[in-house]
Amino acid sequence: MARSTNLTLCSFCGKSHSEVKKLVAGPGVYICNECIDVCSSILEKELSESGNLTSSPSSNSSQPVKVLTPTEICERLDQHVVGQEHAKKVLSVAVYNHYLRLGHLDAPVDETLREVEIEKSNILLLGSTGSGKTLLAKTLARVLDVPFCIVDATTLTEAGYVGEDVENIILRLLQSADFDVEKAERGIIYVDEIDKIGRKTENVSITRDVSGEGVQQALLKILEGTVCNVPPQGGRKHPQQEYIQVNTEKILFVCGGAFVGMEETIRRRMGSKVLGFRSESELDQFEEDSSNILEEIQPEDLLQFGLIPEFIGRLPICSALRKLRVEELVQILTVPKNALVKQYQKQLAMSGVKLKITKDGLLAMAEAAKARGTGARALRSIFEKLMLEVMYDLPSRDDIESVTINRSVVEGEKTPILKKKKADAA
Ligand code: ADP
Repeated sequence: MARSTNLTLCSFCGKSHSEVKKLVAGPGVYICNECIDVCSSILEKELSESGNLTSSPSSNSSQPVKVLTPTEICERLDQHVVGQEHAKKVLSVAVYNHYLRLGHLDAPVDETLREVEIEKSNILLLGSTGSGKTLLAKTLARVLDVPFCIVDATTLTEAGYVGEDVENIILRLLQSADFDVEKAERGIIYVDEIDKIGRKTENVSITRDVSGEGVQQALLKILEGTVCNVPPQGGRKHPQQEYIQVNTEKILFVCGGAFVGMEETIRRRMGSKVLGFRSESELDQFEEDSSNILEEIQPEDLLQFGLIPEFIGRLPICSALRKLRVEELVQILTVPKNALVKQYQKQLAMSGVKLKITKDGLLAMAEAAKARGTGARALRSIFEKLMLEVMYDLPSRDDIESVTINRSVVEGEKTPILKKKKADAA
C-alpha cells in the first residue's frame, strides 16, 4: 500500500490519521471528517442564502433572501393540512409579512415610508380540539425551515412561583435550534391552551393571580420583543447563573386555544338569537354557522375569556379554525403526505400484505370520529383499535395477501377481512 498511516495528514487542517475519525483520500490529497463537516456547513449556508426560502439567512447578511409568497406558503400547508382555508390564508400572509418585516426582501420603499416600522404581528388561532391548530403551526415551521417548539400555557406561572418560568419557553426554542441563538431568534413558538390563562376574576383580588393574569403579564414582554436572559439548564433563575441572551423581537408567536363557548359570546354581542333546532340537517347548518361566526371575532370577545387588553393587543392577527366535517376527516385519513391510511399501508406492505379500506369504511371511520367530538384526534385511536388484532397476528403469518376494512368492520359487526394468498388457498 502506498499510504502509510503514519504519514497521511489532512491536507486542510494538517491533523494526522490518528487524530481524526476518518481521512478520505483523493488524488494526492486527504481530507478529514472534521474538515468535511466544516466544508459542508459552509456550502449549506451559502446555498440557503442564495436560494432557499428563509433557511439561515444571517441577520447581518445584506443579501436579500428569496421569501416564499403567501400563495406558495399556502400551497405547502395544503400538502399537510386539510381544509381550514381561511386559517391557512391568514397564516401565509402573516408569515410573509413577518419576513418582510425582518427585512428579507429588498423591495424598493418610498423615501417617506422608510422610517415606518412594521410592527410585529403574532397570531392567535382559535378552534376546537383536533381541528389542526398545532399541525398548522408545526407545518409552517417546517415549510419555513426555522426552529419550532410547542409550549403549554397552563404549565407556566409568573416568575418566582411554582411552575415553569416564561423564559423556559425560549429555552425550548434554543434547544430546537441546537443552541444557535441567531437561528432561534427567527423561530416560531406555538403556545397552546392560551384560553386557559384567563384572568381568574373580574375584580382585583388580594391574592395574586399567578397562573392567569400573572402569566399573561410575563408573556407580554416576550411576545412584544425583549432581550431575554435564558438559563441554559432551564429551571429557576438564580443570580450566580450564567444566561444566554435571546432577543425575542423576531420570534413569531402563534397562540392557540379552543375558547369553548366563544360562538355564544360572539352571537350575544351580535345580538342574534340561538334557535332550538329540529332535524339533523339543521344541526349541521348550525355547526356550519358556528364556524362562520368565529370569523367575526373581535378583541372584546377575548376579554370575556379573561385575556387582558394588553395581551390581546400583542396578538393582532386572529383566525378561527372550523370544526372538521366528515368529508374532511375522510381526506385527513387518505390525502396528506403522512395520512394514517398511507402509514398503515406502508407498515403492512413491509410484511407483504395489502391494506384495502373501502369508501364506506373510510366514511364510517370519519363518522365515528366526528361523533366523538375531538376532531381528527379520534381518527388515530379508531384506526388503531381496528388494526390491533391484525397487527398482532400478521407478523407470525405468511399466508395473508390482503386485509380489507369496510363499514361493517368499522361498526364492529365483523373483524377485518383477511384474504389468503393463492398458493396457500389451493
Ligand atoms: P389542535 O387543534 O387541538 O391543536 P392538532 O393540530 O394537534 O389539533 O391535531 C391533532 C392531529 O389531528 C394532528 O396530528 C393531525 O394528524 C390531525 N389533524 C387535525 N386537523 C387536521 C387537518 N386539518 N388536516 C390534517 N390533519 C389534521
